[in-house]
Amino acid sequence: MTALLEVRDVSVVFDGFRALDGVNFTVDHGELRFLIGPNGAGKTTLIDIITGLTKPTTGTVSFDGSVINGKREHQRVRLGIGRTFQTSVVFEELTVLENLDLAASFRRPLVSLLARRKGVTEKVAQALETTQLTDLAGRKAGVLSHGQRQWLEIGMLIAQGPRLLLLDEPVAGMSADERARTGELLTEIAKDHTVIVIEHDMDFLRRYASTVTVLHEGKLLIEGSVDEVRADPRVQEVYLGR
Ligand code: ADP
Repeated sequence: MTALLEVRDVSVVFDGFRALDGVNFTVDHGELRFLIGPNGAGKTTLIDIITGLTKPTTGTVSFDGSVINGKREHQRVRLGIGRTFQTSVVFEELTVLENLDLAASFRRPLVSLLARRKGVTEKVAQALETTQLTDLAGRKAGVLSHGQRQWLEIGMLIAQGPRLLLLDEPVAGMSADERARTGELLTEIAKDHTVIVIEHDMDFLRRYASTVTVLHEGKLLIEGSVDEVRADPRVQEVYLGR
C-alpha cells in the first residue's frame, strides 16, 4: 500500500540557509510518529512544507499517492491535512461546543454547511467523545485549564475530519496527569487517523512512541524505536547529551 505521506529529497533554503537538506520522510497510514531534534533542527519547517505554509526549494511532498507541491494550505486542509499551532486558536468567548462546531465548518464552503448539518454534528460529537470533553461542552473556552484547552484544540482538529494530524508539542506545560491523558488521547486518535507529533519529552516518548524520527541541522539523522534512537551515539551527542 502507498504510504499516506511521502516527503522525498526535500530541501528548503531561506536566504542561502539550508533549513532542510535532502530530507526523505515517509509515514504510513495509521502511524503515530514522533519527530524530535534540538532547536533549529528543522522540525517546524518539515511540518510547514507538509501543510503548505512553506514551499520546498527542491523535492516533492506526496499525500495518499499524489504530489501536492502545487496545492495551497486550504486545499491541503480539504485533502485531510490538519495541524495545531503552538499558539492557541480557540475563541475564548465561545463554548467548547461552539468552538468545535466552528472548526468543523472551516473545511466546508458555507453553502454546503446547512445541507450537511447532520454530518458536521456527527464530527463534533465524535470530537467531544474522543477528547472526553462532553461534560464541558457548554463551558466557555476562556475558563478551561491549560490541559483542557489543548484537548479542545485537538478536538477542533478532529472535528475538521482530517486523515493526517500534525501536532506541535501538545504536552508542553502540562502536568503529569494531563500528559498521561494526552498520551492516551493520541493513542486513541491514531486508531483511525495518522498522527505526527513534535515532542521533546523523553519519558512521554518512551511510553507512547513506536517510531521516532530525529532531525538535526536540517537532515534526517536516524529513524527507529525510542530505544534504538536513544542508543545511537550521534543522537546522544547532538540531542540527549545536552
Ligand atoms: P525547529 O522547529 O526544529 O526548532 P525550525 O524548522 O523552526 O527548527 O528552523 C530551522 C532553521 O531554519 C532555524 O535555524 C531557523 O532559524 C531557520 N528558519 C526557519 N524559518 C525561517 C524563515 N522563514 N526564514 C529564515 N530562516 C528560517
